[in-house]
Order: sequence, then C-alpha cells, then structure tokens
Amino acid sequence: MSEHVLEVIQLKKVYGIHTSSEFEALHDIDFICDQGEFICIMGPSGSGKSTFINNISTIDNPTSGKVYIQGREIRTMSSNEIGQFRYDNLGFIFQDFNLLDSHTIYENIAMPLSLKKVKPKIINDKIQQLSKRLNIDTLLKKYPHECSGGQRQRAAICRALINNPKIIIADEPTGNLDSVNSNELLKILQQLNKENSVTIIMVSHDPLIASYSSRLIYIKDGRIEQTLERKDLTQEDYFQQIVEINSSESRAALQQ
Ligand code: ADP
Repeated sequence: MSEHVLEVIQLKKVYGIHTSSEFEALHDIDFICDQGEFICIMGPSGSGKSTFINNISTIDNPTSGKVYIQGREIRTMSSNEIGQFRYDNLGFIFQDFNLLDSHTIYENIAMPLSLKKVKPKIINDKIQQLSKRLNIDTLLKKYPHECSGGQRQRAAICRALINNPKIIIADEPTGNLDSVNSNELLKILQQLNKENSVTIIMVSHDPLIASYSSRLIYIKDGRIEQTLERKDLTQEDYFQQIVEINSSESRAALQQ
C-alpha cells in the first residue's frame, strides 16, 4: 500500500499493559520517511526515542497502530518472515557495538551472511571490499578487545552493511566514541546516504551529530514535538537551529 520506505500510522506503545505499572511511552505517532532521507531523532532522556526506533524496526511490537517498511506491514508477517525481512532490508548499529568478543572481526562481520548459509567465497569477497572501504581490512583477524572503540564501531558498520540494507537503524551510534571517531563515523554514514541512497534513521542527543542529518525529529513525552528540515541550510546554520530547539526545550522544562 505504501510507497514510502517507512510509514508509521497511529503508533502507540504501552509497557506493562494491564498491570499497576502500565505506562504509555508512545502516543499515536504518525511518521513518514522516504528513501534517501537521513533522519535524526532527538529528545530528552526517557522521552521515547529508543522505544520509537525499536517499534519502527521490527525489534519490538507496537501495542496498536501500523508500521509499514518498504510497503509491508510488520504485524502481518510471521516471525520467520520478519527474520528474513530484517535480513533483506535493515542494518543495525548500536552504541555498544554488539560485537561478539569470542569471534574475530572477520567472523563478526560475516555473521549475518553465515547465518544465511551464503557461500564462503561470496562472503569473503564482500568483506574484503567493505573492510577496505571502512579502513579496517588489516584488522580482520583481530578480536574486538584488540581494537579501539572507533575500529570496533567501523566493524559494526561493516556488519550492518554486509547485506546491502536499504535502511540503517542507528541508536546513539557515537555514544561510546571520542569526537574524532564520531565525526569519522558520521562522514561514513553521510557518504552511504548520499552515494548509495541508503536511508538512515539515527538516535542522538548531540546537536553536532544531528547536524549531519537531513531532517530532525524532536520527541518529547512520547510525541513528536518538533521537526526541522535541513533543506538548503549550511551544516553550521542547521546545527545552530538544532542547538536552539534543544535549548528552548530545556528552558521550557526548567520553567515547569
Ligand atoms: P529514551 O530512549 O528517549 O531515553 P525510552 O524509549 O528508553 O526513552 O523510554 C521511554 C519511557 O518508557 C521511559 O519512561 C522508560 O522508563 C519507559 N520504558 C522503556 N522501556 C520500558 C520497559 N521495557 N518497561 C517499562 N517501561 C519502559
């Protein structure tokens, strides 16, 4: 039904439903994302950013509402279909990298393809090509604990990209990186977005990181409170506007 990469209709998430601690974390959110967008989701801690990103990316199930990814409604798929769909369409990058310490960087990157029983030669060709692009081709035999944070995050990006996903979901991807590695990561994401038209949906609390996006979604108390499009703003002007949104929201919180 949908032509959009992602369409979210009246998404509601209630935790602890029918218990004394019932809590509505997302209130009927509508949201559309088109191919090639680079979305950054910001908002105060506890506002619902992770809940939102988990519910639009098959990690969690909404309490009500509809989520269409590439025109497919997630709730109509069986768990097997969701697994295949995720593999075909989505790449995930997390703050803590989520690499397996007992596996080499090569084995970690290969994981999504190995699980799908792709031929080792094809896996190898893909890893050699991608690891060169991300400048970790000399680290493939090392274990994650032998690599720096920036190198581990680049390995995690390689793993997220190995099956050519159409959408990358990144939850605070720079949370454990210093500023040099954060900027490097953002440049890689921006390049993928511009040159390969990969759609990116990223959570960050940092206005500088957010200024690499093409659209900002500010979530507060489980609702989309504000949106801002970069359009033809320079990155610096876009950054200033993002800072202003954050500080006006913080001032409003202080006055409450
Ligand atoms: P953010 O990512 O913006 O920090 P979250 O999406 O993690 O916010 O959380 C939004 C709200 O939902 C918070 O009040 C949080 O305490 C609550 N919450 C998150 N996960 C759960 C859960 N599994 N059970 C109950 N409440 C939760």
